[in-house]
Amino acid sequence: MTISVLDRERVVEGPRPGDMPYLGMLHDAASQVDEAMLPCRANNPELWFAELPNDVEFAKTLCQACPVQEMCLDGAKARREPWGVWGGELFLQGVVIPRKRPRGHPRKSETAA
Ligand code: SF4
Repeated sequence: MTISVLDRERVVEGPRPGDMPYLGMLHDAASQVDEAMLPCRANNPELWFAELPNDVEFAKTLCQACPVQEMCLDGAKARREPWGVWGGELFLQGVVIPRKRPRGHPRKSETAA
């Protein structure tokens, strides 16, 4: 997910349990670099919450060039982010999943039954 979207959530919701230390560190680290170097700020932040699998994969790829990628990923894992691309990985309900399934495609376990 993006720092930009985080900023909006924090204004609306205020700090959440689990925000620190990673989120504060992430904001501090991000503030040390030019925003143009942060892919989720230099691009449309909605890409980090895209519905289309190809867009999600593109966001994951963009994260690989981010100077705070490792810290972003560690923080997202610690917070068990419910959704979005963080640190180059896709999160769903607090865990990293390999890729987003296209709409209408059942899980493998559902097709095997
Ligand atoms: S790793 Fe990705 S989601 Fe995290 S700050 Fe960088 S571009 Fe944004």
